Amino acid sequence: MNLRFPGCMKGRTMYVIPYSMGPVGSPLSKIGVELTDSPYVVASMRVMTRMGKSVLEALGSGEFVRCLHSVGCPLPLKKPLVNNWPCNPELTLVAHIPDQRQIVSFGSGYGGNSLLGKKCFALRIASRIAKEEGWLAEHMLILGITSPEGQKKYIAAAFPSACGKTNLAMLCPTLPGWKVECVGDDIAWMKFDKEGNLRAINPENGFFGVAPGTSAKTNPNAMATISKNTIFTNVAETSDGGVYWEGMDQKLPEGVTLTSWKNKPWTSEDGEPSAHPNSRFCTPASQCPIIDPQWESPEGVPIEAIIFGGRRPQGVPLVYEAFDWQHGVFVGAAMRSEATAAAEHKGKVIMHDPFAMRPFFGYNFGHYLAHWLSMEQRSLSRLPKIFHVNWFRKSQAGGFLWPGFGENIRVMEWVFRRLNGEAEATPSAVGYIPAKGALNLKGMDEQVDFEELFDLPKEFWEKEVQEIRAYFQTQVNNDLPREVERQLELLEQRVQQL
Ligand code: GDP
Ligand code: MN
Repeated sequence: MNLRFPGCMKGRTMYVIPYSMGPVGSPLSKIGVELTDSPYVVASMRVMTRMGKSVLEALGSGEFVRCLHSVGCPLPLKKPLVNNWPCNPELTLVAHIPDQRQIVSFGSGYGGNSLLGKKCFALRIASRIAKEEGWLAEHMLILGITSPEGQKKYIAAAFPSACGKTNLAMLCPTLPGWKVECVGDDIAWMKFDKEGNLRAINPENGFFGVAPGTSAKTNPNAMATISKNTIFTNVAETSDGGVYWEGMDQKLPEGVTLTSWKNKPWTSEDGEPSAHPNSRFCTPASQCPIIDPQWESPEGVPIEAIIFGGRRPQGVPLVYEAFDWQHGVFVGAAMRSEATAAAEHKGKVIMHDPFAMRPFFGYNFGHYLAHWLSMEQRSLSRLPKIFHVNWFRKSQAGGFLWPGFGENIRVMEWVFRRLNGEAEATPSAVGYIPAKGALNLKGMDEQVDFEELFDLPKEFWEKEVQEIRAYFQTQVNNDLPREVERQLELLEQRVQQL
């Protein structure tokens, strides 16, 4: 830090950003102040957080998280500027000092490295504060779901990055009469209130979503949200002033040409994508057509179910319900997901990503598990039920077994009905699965193979148990709570009976 920061903003403007994570003044909200030399960060933070005078007033002489950011390119530049994007990749450093409620970030201007309210504060620092104060800071979307009978429930769901949080949070139901509304698409801060209900707020003010694959077909609500006041990063540009990416599913008007994210003329013969695969939109949540009326409620919304999930091409059923809270905590701890094209990995690998928090834990994972287990005492017996979903199981032929997207409402319906004690379930080795006929498959465009979607191959699950055990041993070891170890033993016993 002493090597990097002295003189790092020379010649640039330093901005001071007071911001609130959560609605200004909510008892669940927290304040941060970010210093930055990047106007891109200022504009993006204006979308992603509540910032400015009202936050300073709410802060008074109270506590705040200290955030320091620099692109690491003092003027005059020592190297030519590429694509108008100052950064210093050789010296990039992102560090957290939880004891001092401090974040320092040098050399990178993008996303989680520079918008310090998001992953750095709202997950890493906040998870540590939450541990001390007795609440939860999680990598979860929050949605409201209303049944055809008019009953409404709120649900939170943790999926690793690129596994469908934004899509589920803005789901367009294919089943008539069901309504989904969005509270948040990435982060949830949750706390049990005096009555024992788990209350959640979305600490963010906008969506920082992946652009490629977002289309009027896959996520019409996201497309409507980004129609104005939106900052796009690393997407392609159209010659008539618009934006473009792979999977946008829109024909370009006659004569309109494209400039790639690398600022070069682009045609479909180029061989590489026009937009970066991780290109983003940064857009105000308030513009979402299905934003929940309670999304800024200071007391938060009551969460009745928590859903874990990941990208599992083999072996893992479409949906199952944990037997109880301790089993649910184990299900979160044992989460794995197929990861693609991350810099450090070649090809596709199934990676452990417990609670979708692997990159975001602000403290010892074993202690985190103990903290989750302790929630059972805080709930006054009104614990949310825990589920696991997998939209990504594949057939022998390689196609998805489940159509996903809007059809996921069928799984959400089963979850909803389970919360009311209305839907039937069968105990299995992994948890309760829908009884035959309990999952509503009526009127689907394509036939789905219920047997294959819920099949539990013995060999697969024996191997899964081994993988989870090895992970717990190498990564958690003596800090693994007894209850979680016990759940692994119980799973192993059930798998032996398959
Ligand atoms: P996030 O990073 O967790 O918010 O994930 P996104 O919602 O941005 O989705 C990541 C990717 O998963 C995108 O390519 C989506 O099109 C894809 N996806 C999302 N939901 C589904 C689904 O239900 N089925 C399938 N097959 N793909 C999905
Ligand atoms: Mn997302």
